[in-house]
Amino acid sequence: MTELIRRTAAELAAALAAGETTSVELTQAHLDRIAAVDGDRDSGVHAFLHVDADGALAQAAASDERRRDGEPLDVLDGVPIAVKDVLVTNGLPTTCGSRILEGWVPPYDATVVRRLKAAGLPILGKTNMDEFAMGSSTEHSAYGPTRNPWDLGRIPGGSGGGSAAAVAAYEAPLAIGTDTGGSIRQPGAVTGTVGVKPTYGGVSRYGLVALANSLDQAGPVTRTVMDAALLQELIGGHDPLDSTSVDQPVPALVDAARQGASGDLTGVRVGVVTEMSGDGWQPGVMARFQESVDLMVRAGAEVVEVSCPHFVHALAAYYLILPAEASSNLAKFDAMRYGLRVVPEGNPSAEEVMKATRDAGFGDEVKRRIILGTYALSSGYYDAYYGQAQKVRTLISRDFAAAFERVDVLVSPTAPTTAFKLGEKLDDPLAMYLNDLATIPANLSGVPGISVPAGLANEDGLPVGLQVLAPALADDRCYRVGAALETVLASQWGGPLLDKAPALDGGDR
Ligand code: GLN
Repeated sequence: MTELIRRTAAELAAALAAGETTSVELTQAHLDRIAAVDGDRDSGVHAFLHVDADGALAQAAASDERRRDGEPLDVLDGVPIAVKDVLVTNGLPTTCGSRILEGWVPPYDATVVRRLKAAGLPILGKTNMDEFAMGSSTEHSAYGPTRNPWDLGRIPGGSGGGSAAAVAAYEAPLAIGTDTGGSIRQPGAVTGTVGVKPTYGGVSRYGLVALANSLDQAGPVTRTVMDAALLQELIGGHDPLDSTSVDQPVPALVDAARQGASGDLTGVRVGVVTEMSGDGWQPGVMARFQESVDLMVRAGAEVVEVSCPHFVHALAAYYLILPAEASSNLAKFDAMRYGLRVVPEGNPSAEEVMKATRDAGFGDEVKRRIILGTYALSSGYYDAYYGQAQKVRTLISRDFAAAFERVDVLVSPTAPTTAFKLGEKLDDPLAMYLNDLATIPANLSGVPGISVPAGLANEDGLPVGLQVLAPALADDRCYRVGAALETVLASQWGGPLLDKAPALDGGDR
């Protein structure tokens, strides 16, 4: 059993195809692991907000029947997966980490979820997240934080810390995350897992509860680049239900990952972003990054430094555009349609019910951003804030366009620091926001990015992530370069990085 949970999704798929295991057996193995290490809001990893053991086992049994009949739906048919609680799931609670949606059970599936089910992947449950995906530590969840499997006293990143921690703790071989400003890639970096933000529009947003529509993107959370490629090929592609979905075939990601796995980067032009280093970047993170860049040179890549001068304004622009969109999206939580309804004493008006409900249902970070957003959009300030931020967004896209004339991919550390301690930045919103310095530009301009583990920082022994960014629709480049890095780093580190994580209580690794 223990051995099963340590295998990658590709290995599990091969074992299923060879008849060496069944979906029921490996789904049960992951459910056992969840029971052993996940705990609750007070202890354990707490990656899951809801575990659907019965549903997952029923889906697994159906998968085994298809295999017996020689009719699997997909290579990943029967391989279980966890889904971030911001994607709606028919019949399974969906809270977005918020009190305001406590107890809400959606009547339909997000397109991503529908595609997972259509391919036969049993859904283990819904993973924890910062409320409405606002945060970098999962501490803004109304249901208590997720803890980093490398050190339960530290954050697993955010907002999708639940998905990353579930995969890092071997509770799930695969997970789905969403990335609006870094929420797939930064949790990947600090938990030693792989996280991909596809090209904007590459994966349907239908049924993804919107944080900021022009930035949100769902994507894979895995332990290897190949697993991410398999998953993105499955969930990606045009969806008529999402008007921003790209109507083009998904690039050949599995082929790109296979090509990269040889560890050869001959002819690939790599740009190191000048603006993503310097003050505030942890020395151990920069050391691992530099070492990875040296390994890329040895693997045949041509490496140059590339300046993207407007990236320094990305964070400021993001924290105007995101709250503006979020404040408008969150207006629908009005106590009339979904979830919580708080009715004050007496004979309250509809407005008083809304007020009381939103006051009790939203946490501090959500309220902060609603206030920021409505202010930025108010008529007297629209041009000064929102309008300016949109101009900065254009300048950032131009920086990317100029850079990608010179190089095939851009690289940087994914996050400025390794996992910090729980509580360390909770009362300092600005310090929390700075975690996304390197990830936000990709969301603002829609380009794809992958974070791959790049070793452990000397000062604390915690994982460091390296980010690879490519032009829009060239997601395959992220996979090729990511897979090559994985190969050269595995020989440097003597095997997969996660094998170095300290064992968790209650379950042997
Ligand atoms: N940490 C960023 C924020 O708080 C990113 C969130 C995300 O990608 N969902 O907005």
